[in-house]
Amino acid sequence: MNRNQVLPQVQLSAEPSALKKVDFCAPQSYQGAGFLAIDDMPRLAKEASSIASGDGFTWHIQTHFEDSPGSEPHQILEMDLKGCLHLVCQRCLQDCTVDLDEKRRFVLVASEAEADAYPLEDEEQEPLVASQHFNLLETIEDEVLLSLPLIPKHPDGFCEPHATVFGLEEGDEGMEERENPFNILKNMKKNS
Ligand SMILES: [Zn+2]
Repeated sequence: MNRNQVLPQVQLSAEPSALKKVDFCAPQSYQGAGFLAIDDMPRLAKEASSIASGDGFTWHIQTHFEDSPGSEPHQILEMDLKGCLHLVCQRCLQDCTVDLDEKRRFVLVASEAEADAYPLEDEEQEPLVASQHFNLLETIEDEVLLSLPLIPKHPDGFCEPHATVFGLEEGDEGMEERENPFNILKNMKKNS
């Protein structure tokens, strides 16, 4: 018997505060979608260089049970995240928009020990410890934070290095572009 067909499917509230307490121990599956503004995620708000209207992330979450031989069916959580925020471009030191479009798959496990024992090499899914008061908001924020580029930058060619970031390199480039002073001198002599 497929467990998904007999268990009730519960709609997740789009309300950020409601996402802080989701019962993943109940015999039911979930689905829902919503939008989280940057201010709904305090750790992310700290990373943001500025907050423009529209910045934030649309989430879509769905859970289902998958049969596993020899044990209870596993609860699988699938998460889609799409949106943007502003970070400091490490080239020009101005704000740049960072777009994210991420898909994640998790398996809910019963304990921290089980999560620790979960094979790291499984790149398809990661463990989450299920609880009756699971903080899904924090998990969404974790995933956004983990998806941020280590060195945020505008697309290549879009901006110039800021003098304080690549001061020396910029100076070197400038020298190459300028005409060799000896040639200038030669030309002056020729013309005189
Ligand atoms: Zn830039």
